[in-house]
Amino acid sequence: MNRTLVWFRRDLRIADHAPLYRAARRGAVIPVFVFDRALLHHPETGAARVRFMLDCLSALDDDLSERGGRLILRYGDPVKVLPELVRQTGADGIYSYTDCERIYGRMRDARLNRVLAEANLKIRWFEPVASAAELMPYPHYRDWWYQEMRSPMVPIPPSVTVPEDIFSEPLPNLARLDHLDDGKAVPKCGTAEARRLLQEFIAEKADRYYWRLSYPSAEATTGLSAHIKFGAITIRECVQTIWQAQDGGDYRVSNSYQQLVSRLRWGNGFTQRFRYLPQLELRSLYTPFDDDGWEFDEALYTAWQQGQTGFPIIDAAARCLQATGGWLALNFRSRAMYASFLSNLLGIDWRYGALHFMRHLIDGDCPIDHYQWAMQSGVTHCIDKSWTRIYNPGQTAVDRCDPEGSFIRRWVPEVAHLPAGQLGSSPPVSGYPAPIVSYAQARQRRISQLERQRDRILTAPNVVPFVTRLPQDLTPFGADRYPSEVAWSRLPNTALFPAGLDLDQLNLEQAKTLRTWFVVHVDSGAWAKRQRSRPRSKSPSDSQQLSLLTNLL
Ligand SMILES: Cc1cc2nc3c(=O)[nH]c(=O)nc-3n(C[C@H](O)[C@H](O)[C@H](O)COP(=O)(O)OP(=O)(O)OC[C@H]3O[C@@H](n4cnc5c(N)ncnc54)[C@H](O)[C@@H]3O)c2cc1C
Repeated sequence: MNRTLVWFRRDLRIADHAPLYRAARRGAVIPVFVFDRALLHHPETGAARVRFMLDCLSALDDDLSERGGRLILRYGDPVKVLPELVRQTGADGIYSYTDCERIYGRMRDARLNRVLAEANLKIRWFEPVASAAELMPYPHYRDWWYQEMRSPMVPIPPSVTVPEDIFSEPLPNLARLDHLDDGKAVPKCGTAEARRLLQEFIAEKADRYYWRLSYPSAEATTGLSAHIKFGAITIRECVQTIWQAQDGGDYRVSNSYQQLVSRLRWGNGFTQRFRYLPQLELRSLYTPFDDDGWEFDEALYTAWQQGQTGFPIIDAAARCLQATGGWLALNFRSRAMYASFLSNLLGIDWRYGALHFMRHLIDGDCPIDHYQWAMQSGVTHCIDKSWTRIYNPGQTAVDRCDPEGSFIRRWVPEVAHLPAGQLGSSPPVSGYPAPIVSYAQARQRRISQLERQRDRILTAPNVVPFVTRLPQDLTPFGADRYPSEVAWSRLPNTALFPAGLDLDQLNLEQAKTLRTWFVVHVDSGAWAKRQRSRPRSKSPSDSQQLSLLTNLL
């Protein structure tokens, strides 16, 4: 009987899983997950996320068991473990999805390719849905993404036969992986749970999501982020489920569906940017933003991390992140305001913020997190000034995002006695700090700085020379602050798989194509037409949702 090893990484499911399905069709399967210390002890790894991953592995094992299989667990460097396992089990080769989340993973996969080729062993890589090898203009990617979402899902294999003689390590706990539990409650995991969350969204949240996703206390979002991060459910399954759901002719529901599909697309778009430019994990997109200007002040950084800035909405976000890991409780707008405060108002390099987020977020996903951080810090767009997201963290933010003050009161008990109208700029309160920065001055300073930096790029005929290159030193940011295992970054051969773009080899046409990924695109066409033909109603308007940012500036 044929035997195929299926290497699971962050695709912890059996549904819509091409490598597993294909492997099961050709014969016996060896479904394997390898605990790799380079990832478990990357400076950006957080204990709560590891715990959630362990639960996902347990759920995957259950799903495989229901089909007669089981998950095989191993420890070590996959570049050594996998070829050995292929030899020991007599497998014909390995099936796996490519993954562009991190430079480390891409270096490891390139090393694995070399080692397998030298040993005459085979690996077949599958492209995840909506991951494109070729450079295409962003508007084409957007159209192609919708096509990919429409394509049929891969069936679940009816049975999975795992040879009996293959040994598996038991599922470890955090201590076995040298992590300390930091006390965060992790959500229930598994494909069934992800599907339940999606159905709950359709049944109970879709009439308000579009308008309420900026309110931290509304909990109007799906809660799917951590499940998507570990691949317990695919984006394609989420999108197809939403497309099949009825909106009952209620435009509030259809707006929400549309908004959620767009957000799912954004997530894929960030991963695709990282596929082209893996250096975005380590640097800002354009060099002038990193060359000049960040200042680091340990005391300010600590105050920001600990929720002691004197701005209650920022401190609520800070404490919520540390206590909950952000899942469901820390929505997009709260993350954005909290992020913008560090880089724009305190002038601290966004990478310190992204590092802190990744160490706490249960849904921490490097391309989304790092690119969102860079966006909120104003360093992804060199022309469009509307891409300067400096939120007013005072009363304006409270009125817009937490008008009743329930989010603030929950996390900042020191000010809980104040009326909502004073939660933005509270009078002196014993035991609570005064604001650590003047918003007006800091904002002005940041705007002038961004204008100076953007001017350097604006006057250049071609922006590609300003696009950051993959640095020689691939040591992850934060390796000097936290104990971590980064010996891999000093290996001599730093080839990546999939490879990123070689910026120095791009012709003019390709440079223009790449540029389309980093300018503002307004969704137009069919969607705008639908909006125009929709009857007016007294329900909350689109502008109420979309104007939020402008009002916060
Ligand atoms: C500074 C900053 C850092 C962030 N870091 C992460 C992160 O590490 N991981 C992460 O999944 N999201 C991140 N986000 C995006 C967003 O805040 C979360 O996706 C969302 O809060 C997750 O909750 P949900 O699944 O209930 O959201 P929903 O609104 O229900 O969204 C469903 C899914 O769509 C995707 N999505 C939603 N909003 C965005 C967005 N703005 N950009 C990209 N994808 C989006 C995510 O996959 C999300 O799970 C970050 C946002 C900011 C501003």
